[in-house]
Amino acid sequence: MDDNVTKCRICGEFVLQIPGWTTFIPSYWLLRATWDPDHQFLAGALHFSCLKQWKHRDAFLREATDILIGRGRTITVEAEGTEHVLEQPGVFFSERIFRDAECAIYRNTSTDRWLVLSEDGPWIVLDRQQLSFLGRGRPARAEEGGERVALPDDPGPAIETATLPELLVFLGSRSRYPALEHGAPDYQRWRFVPRKRVLEYSVGIDLSLPASATEFLAGYSHDYEAFSFDAETR
Ligand SMILES: [Zn+2]
Repeated sequence: MDDNVTKCRICGEFVLQIPGWTTFIPSYWLLRATWDPDHQFLAGALHFSCLKQWKHRDAFLREATDILIGRGRTITVEAEGTEHVLEQPGVFFSERIFRDAECAIYRNTSTDRWLVLSEDGPWIVLDRQQLSFLGRGRPARAEEGGERVALPDDPGPAIETATLPELLVFLGSRSRYPALEHGAPDYQRWRFVPRKRVLEYSVGIDLSLPASATEFLAGYSHDYEAFSFDAETR
């Protein structure tokens, strides 16, 4: 497995993907590393706690935001003296519905999903069910399906009983998830394949949103016009 998948592009430590705590920048985003003199692209995993403190955070966020809220655009890249015109995709969170000093919230232009983009870096995408939780005064909880990752070393039999904090200590990246316990994480080990050191797991967790976003979305969840027809459940 390529290093980009499991090593944080900022700190170099292992990234165990946990909703709200990490992200993965796909290579097709063509996210330009404008802070890099060689002007390469950045793709791969990162810890949001690393992004918050990164010296290149603002430059990174300018590029990432253009893609997240964008509708796709043409970019020109120079390589070995030749200019190449590339199509950068957009993720279409293009309608801004809220902004304050802490964060901005954008609605997707064709699906019932919302992007909460914190000023200090992390972003979270909410679906309709998570929005409805906020509307009922509950945390937006991520319950999505499993992840599959190759561990760098063989954890031995300890993997069978390891808690999430113990697993993160083993992976050498516990400090990248400070105050993780506040989200009431529910770690489930689905399967571990020792021969390939492949772990299949899931983590349900309350997503940590800026207070102003929680407040705004709680009210908004009762008012918005849904795109999908089965929105009566909210
Ligand atoms: Zn990191």
